[in-house]
Amino acid sequence: MYIREKFGFTQKTLDLIDWSSIKDSNRQRSVKERATQSKYVYRWSFTNKRENRLDPNKTPMCPLCGKEEEDQHHVQCCKDRRATKVREELRDELEHDLEELKTHPDLVTLIIRSLQTQENQQVVVDVTGHEEEDELRDLVEEQRQIGWDKLKLGFWSSTWAVLQGKYMRRQKKRPRPTWTAKAQLAVWNYVQGNWMHRNGVAHRNSVEERRMKFREKMRKTVDDMLADVPEVGSSGRHLFEDVQKVRRMRYRQQKAWTWSVYIEIEKEKKRKHEESRLGNKLVGLLRLIVVSR
Ligand SMILES: [Zn+2]
Repeated sequence: MYIREKFGFTQKTLDLIDWSSIKDSNRQRSVKERATQSKYVYRWSFTNKRENRLDPNKTPMCPLCGKEEEDQHHVQCCKDRRATKVREELRDELEHDLEELKTHPDLVTLIIRSLQTQENQQVVVDVTGHEEEDELRDLVEEQRQIGWDKLKLGFWSSTWAVLQGKYMRRQKKRPRPTWTAKAQLAVWNYVQGNWMHRNGVAHRNSVEERRMKFREKMRKTVDDMLADVPEVGSSGRHLFEDVQKVRRMRYRQQKAWTWSVYIEIEKEKKRKHEESRLGNKLVGLLRLIVVSR
């Protein structure tokens, strides 16, 4: 089984996972959403660390903070101010969604805490004296075996649903069989929200980077032209009158300026060509005169 190898799950761990909820939550997603999630969960999306492994010329560092290598975990925990602000909003939204689902408040706390865990990190809680002490102890232990960091990828122990069901019955409310699937979707919205925000920033950065390269190239072309003025005729001399002004021009103006220079260079070439052709004609004429004498 692919998942077993990818995450190093043992058969015992696989048995702990609530597969029916994964199926349910998948059913509630569009094809596109499912594709994004399975890409994220199974193949891992293109973080910079991954890109760097494929192309060593590319930076492995985070596009937001630039302080750490960017892997999947970092995307969810980056300390960049923009990222933390978005994460706070997403967490509020998640809490709100879980409350709407009438989630056991202690389960909300556990879910929220799991979002900050990375591989091999645990959520430690003291369950002694809790109303559902036994189930809670099972839940914490089972999720530890699956991995607390795997919760945000949708790998939940089946005991989550058991605990939530008990809580609902204790409240004299009918348990909702779709609770886990819906809670998983809410968590996924949080995970995906962080990822989309990261992509937005990375995209803006790469657009800016390309622009910088164009600007840099233009500056060099202009500098070269100013340092070694090409041959232009009288109609093009004005282009080189105010060198400082040309250097201060914005990208678009410089582009227009270089075009004008190219046109003048061509004009001058043509004029010279014409001149030499006329010259040759004249020489030929003279020779003719000499010969005919
Ligand atoms: Zn970062």
